[in-house]
Amino acid sequence: MSDVRIKIPAELFALAESSRFDGSFDVGVLEAGPDDYTFKEPVEWYVDVSNTGSALLVAGKASGVGSCACARCLSDVTYEFDGDIEGYFLVNPEEGWDDDGEEELGDDEFDVLPEDHIIDLEPLIRAALIVDAPDQPLCREDCKGICPTCGQDLNEGTCDCGRGKDLEEFDRAANPFAALADFKFED
Ligand SMILES: [Zn+2]
Ligand SMILES: [Zn+2]
Repeated sequence: MSDVRIKIPAELFALAESSRFDGSFDVGVLEAGPDDYTFKEPVEWYVDVSNTGSALLVAGKASGVGSCACARCLSDVTYEFDGDIEGYFLVNPEEGWDDDGEEELGDDEFDVLPEDHIIDLEPLIRAALIVDAPDQPLCREDCKGICPTCGQDLNEGTCDCGRGKDLEEFDRAANPFAALADFKFED
């Protein structure tokens, strides 16, 4: 079991101090919108924690390989994640309030450093991976999907029910550039 809680050492409470932390984290399953990515191997992560005066800035990377079902044909898709970890923890919210214009920040743009000085990186790592996830996981750009009528994988050929062929033509109609493939240009 990997631990992603980091204890901020005393020396980091001086202005402009910075420290790097790293490790690995068993993500297991990542829910990214409608898609569930399974991570067989732990995700590698690092963060640099910097003291900006009234806050600790947490910035780093989380990388690993997740797999998911293709949005069209349901075959396995693997994706190499390389997400940016970003966090901002106010150290003394009451003190930092007046002089730095920190009051301009919305509630969702920062956290407050817990009294025990332990930051749990799990939500930051998951957020970094979710933001990096593709909008739609596809086994390949032009995956044709499966026929909704007979279940034939249309990447492997058209089906006998005829529905798959209709879909292919429908796809072309929806994409004006595909039609250019058939267009005979005159010299
Ligand atoms: Zn596919
Ligand atoms: Zn079919």
